[in-house]
Amino acid sequence: MQKMSKYFCQKNVPSFTRSIIFGTGARLKRAKSIHPVFLPFSGCPMHCVYCAQDRQTGTSMTAGISSVLAEAEKNFSALKPCASGESRELAFYGGTFTALPEEERRSCLSFLTRLRTSGIITHARCSTRPDALSPEVFDELKAHGIDLIELGIQSFDSMALSASRRGYGGEVTLQACRMVQDSGFLLGIQLLPGMPGSSPEVFIKDVELALGLHPACLRFYPCLVPDGTVLARWLAEGRYEPWSLEETVSTLGRALAQAWEREVPVIRLSVAPEPAFDAAVLAGPRHPALGALIQAEALLVSVRKALEQLGEEPKALFLPRSCQGFMYGERGALKESWNRVGLTQERIFFTKNEKAELCA
Ligand code: SF4
Repeated sequence: MQKMSKYFCQKNVPSFTRSIIFGTGARLKRAKSIHPVFLPFSGCPMHCVYCAQDRQTGTSMTAGISSVLAEAEKNFSALKPCASGESRELAFYGGTFTALPEEERRSCLSFLTRLRTSGIITHARCSTRPDALSPEVFDELKAHGIDLIELGIQSFDSMALSASRRGYGGEVTLQACRMVQDSGFLLGIQLLPGMPGSSPEVFIKDVELALGLHPACLRFYPCLVPDGTVLARWLAEGRYEPWSLEETVSTLGRALAQAWEREVPVIRLSVAPEPAFDAAVLAGPRHPALGALIQAEALLVSVRKALEQLGEEPKALFLPRSCQGFMYGERGALKESWNRVGLTQERIFFTKNEKAELCA
């Protein structure tokens, strides 16, 4: 049992004798805003079976990297240099940044250096594959100010990686994470629940492994089937079956609750909406409010655990205001679940605090 927070004591001293405090989502406190530059498929050794980065990011590379950078330059020119205490981040997403042809990587990094020198950008990250790392590239990234590397690990499980034809095994994923951290970068880990060869059990194990590495952030991208991919063919041939929406929400809800408990920010719970991509999705757990559904499930998982620890009937639950929008699920579908655990609406209060507190 933890001590009751000062905030709640002031408001409710006479009524409560015990309380359990728990997390409902840590924030990644880096830059105030992230400005992505998408480089779909650039540097990738192949097109992965499920990947449709061009439609996912709404960016085409047909005119080459210089035209993407010219467009980005135009967008950044509208921004003022960061004032003292302000922060802004540049992110190279959508391909395998560390395996870009040398000249292209240099162009990207020179662009970043210009933005950093002029104070437009204070932080920078890139995403890449775990089998495309080297000490030389790390030195180059560091010299230009990249401080966070997101690895598209997808899974730590060798069977799932092989079934998804990722081209590397589980041992490479762990080594890569350690290499990134040992080289002084912050580590981001991207996982792909529902990928071929995976299962809810494999994914939950992946999350445990990822949390054990203490990354700066995680991303969960539930596997979808975009038209024109190998996965679409496997779906048509009956060789692949995507996870249902229910399975995705319940599994990712459990995983998210674990991340909340370990205070590791999960900065994505589904692929960002993009009209061309949405139109191309043939199957898979796509829902406009998937992130909110997963958060609602995670909150219930966390509350049930706190109730077990409390061991008596709850008198009140204080939640951060951020939970207000999602806690009852779609059209209040979870209201009954909340009532069943003894937390009717009149026992729930919203506060400015970052953590939740269950009181008896
Ligand atoms: S390496 Fe990543 S970006 Fe490249 S094709 Fe595979 S999943 Fe897509």
